[in-house]
Amino acid sequence: MTDEFTTEIYYDDDADVSTLDNETVAVLGYGSQGHAHALSLDDSGVDVVVGLHEGSSSRDTAEADGLTVTTPADAAAQASYVSVLIPDTVQPDVYENAIEPNLEAGDTLQFAHGLNIHYNQIEPPEDVDVTMIAPKSPGHLVRRNYVNGEGTPGLFAVYQDTTGDAADRALAYAKGIGCTRAGVIETTFQEEVESDIFGEQAVLCGGVTSLVKHGFETLVDAGYSPEIAYFECLNELKLIVDLMYEGGHAEMWDSVSDTAEYGGLSRGDRIVDETVRENMEEVLEEVQNGEFTREWILENQAGRPSYNQLREAEKNHEIEQVGERLRDLFAWAETAESEDESATV
Ligand code: NAD
Ligand code: MG
Ligand code: MG
Ligand code: MG
Ligand code: MG
Repeated sequence: MTDEFTTEIYYDDDADVSTLDNETVAVLGYGSQGHAHALSLDDSGVDVVVGLHEGSSSRDTAEADGLTVTTPADAAAQASYVSVLIPDTVQPDVYENAIEPNLEAGDTLQFAHGLNIHYNQIEPPEDVDVTMIAPKSPGHLVRRNYVNGEGTPGLFAVYQDTTGDAADRALAYAKGIGCTRAGVIETTFQEEVESDIFGEQAVLCGGVTSLVKHGFETLVDAGYSPEIAYFECLNELKLIVDLMYEGGHAEMWDSVSDTAEYGGLSRGDRIVDETVRENMEEVLEEVQNGEFTREWILENQAGRPSYNQLREAEKNHEIEQVGERLRDLFAWAETAESEDESATV
C-alpha cells in the first residue's frame, strides 16, 4: 500500500492467493477477460471451473486449454466465488437464470465492470460478497503479461462485504491474474462505472472520433485530398498518443516541432472550447442520473435500431473508405496486433 495517492494501491505483498485455497472459482464467459482470468487463476493454483452455455463456441477452446467446462448454472453451483465475465448486456439475464438460484450465503459475486450493479440491473442478495476486479487492459494483454511475469494494473472495489473477507478474497483473485504485480487501485462501483462510461463517450471513443472526423471534413471541404487528410488527422494520431502514453503531454510537446507546439498550445483551446466543456458536463450528468443507461437498456430491448443506424453511418463516412484503401496499400497496418483489437474501455 502507498499513501502518496488519493486512493489505496495494493501490490503483491498486500494479497495472498492461498486465501482462495478452499474455494472453487467459477469464471463465467471465456472471451477477452474470461480466458485470461481462468487460465491465470489456474496457473496460480486456484481451483477454476469455466461456465459457458451449451453450444458456445468458446467451450472447445476452454477445454483444449485444459480447463473444466460446464454450464453457467452448474459452475455457479459448484463455486463459492463467481466471476461474471460475459457481455454486460446479457449479464442480467444470465444472473437471473443461472447465477442467482445458485448463490449461497458467503459466496462472492464478482464483476470486471460495475454497470449492472450500479444501475440496479442485478440486485444480489444481502448475504453474498460483491466485488470488482477490473484489469485496465484487454484480456489478451492481461494473459500475456501474466505469462511473461509482468502485471496488468487493475481497479478493485467492494460493493458488499458480508463475510468480512470480501477485500482479501478479491485481492487474492487479483494476485492470481497478476494484477497486484502492477498495482490495484481501490475505487467504488459508482466511480468505476461513471468515469468509464464518461471517458469512453467524451474522450476515448466518442470525443476522439468526432474530433478526427471534423478535422478530416474541414480539410477535404477546403479542397485538400482525402488521403492527405486521413494521414494528418487519423494516422498520425497514434504517434501522438504513444508519446502521451509514455510521458504525458510534456513528452509529446517535447517531441513535436516548436511550430507544432506553439500552434497546438495557442489553438487547442479554441478548437475544443468552453462549449465542448459544457457538452461534456451534460453528457456526464446523463451518465450520473442513469439517463444514458436507461436509453441503452431500451435500445437493446428494441433490437438496437439506433445503434445499427449509427454504426452504418460511421462505416459509410468518407474517412473510413479512404482509410481502408490506404491501409491496403501501406505495410504499416500489418504490424498492428490483431489480438488486442477486442479492447473495451
Ligand atoms: P467478451 O465479449 O470478450 O466475452 C464474452 C464471453 O461470454 C464469451 O466467452 C461468450 O461465449 C460468453 N457469453 C456470451 N453470451 C453468453 C451467455 N448468454 N451466457 C454465457 N456466456 C455467454 O467479453 P469481455 O470483453 O471479456 O467482457 C466481460 C466483462 O469484462 C464485461 O463486464 C466487461 O465490461 C469487462 N471488461 C472488459 C475488458 C476488455 O478489455 N475486454 C476490460 C475490463 C473489463
Ligand atoms: Mg455456489
Ligand atoms: Mg503533421
Ligand atoms: Mg507536422
Ligand atoms: Mg467501458
